[in-house]
Amino acid sequence: MSFSAQVKREAARVFPERACCWRAELAALARVVGSLRLGAAPDALMITTENPAVARKIFKLSKCLGWNRSVAVRQCSRPRHYHLFVVQIPLRQGKLSLLQELGFADRKNRLKDYLDSRLLARNCCCRAFLRGCFLGSGYFSKPDHSYHLEFILNTAEGAGEVEAVLARFGLVPNRRERKGGFGVYLKEADQVGEFLRIIGASQAVLEFENSRIIKEMRNKINRLVNCETANLKKTVKTGLMQAEMIKQLAASVGLSSLRPPLRDLAELRLNHPDASLKELGRLLSPPVGKSGVNHRFRELRRIAQQLRSEEACPGKEVKLETDYEEHQREKNKK
Ligand SMILES: [Zn+2]
Repeated sequence: MSFSAQVKREAARVFPERACCWRAELAALARVVGSLRLGAAPDALMITTENPAVARKIFKLSKCLGWNRSVAVRQCSRPRHYHLFVVQIPLRQGKLSLLQELGFADRKNRLKDYLDSRLLARNCCCRAFLRGCFLGSGYFSKPDHSYHLEFILNTAEGAGEVEAVLARFGLVPNRRERKGGFGVYLKEADQVGEFLRIIGASQAVLEFENSRIIKEMRNKINRLVNCETANLKKTVKTGLMQAEMIKQLAASVGLSSLRPPLRDLAELRLNHPDASLKELGRLLSPPVGKSGVNHRFRELRRIAQQLRSEEACPGKEVKLETDYEEHQREKNKK
């Protein structure tokens, strides 16, 4: 069973306690998967779903509100074989107008573009509204791939309503145009988890958090491995370049012309082209830290560069030690 189907099954079983929430959840379902059948007596609201648990919930919500309703099952064979449940609720319920009860019409029974704000005045009703929207038109991508929850709405007004209610709980949805409608979606894992909490799908919250932890651990391990591989590549590349430079030095002036500390390091590098600077430092006697090794390589590089420029313009003197070392030696003499 897909994660969407699992969450829907759980959310369909969450039954609010108050009549205000029954109306809000039904209004959401009517908004996202409902249509009005007008002109053919009796005028009715038709809410259509493929999901039997959702159909049962619509039936039960309208029953609790004391409304007449009936359900029909249609067999569809194209593009695949499935059942379609159509819950039909007459718009006139005794003295009540269903359109007004569900916030679709004003007191004169004129249809409104947006739901009546009184329907969503309370937090409990907003939760029920979001649950209804999800049951009708929401779906999740698999939690171990990415965190993505999306509602498919037919109209911009419908999309705006869902966005506004999500925002009341501090969620920040995005919107995209889709074929024949709008997608309102949450992408951040924290937000998706919070949504599940809001609609009361506690089992799904646990599962979602678990898969999120596993995913984060997997990502962390991958990052570490990638980082380690990159470091290793860098070490080997540096080592090979240094060995190449030392070979050129050996060919032009010979390693014996170098001062012993530089010569020792140069020989070590030729024997261990893939060792890190730290490892080379440990092999030296006496051992030298990474920065000391780095310093000696800088010297070797400088000598190699001077040799190259010497070859380019003969006659120039190549200095095989640094000013610093000269200075140290002078100081020691004194
Ligand atoms: Zn309520």
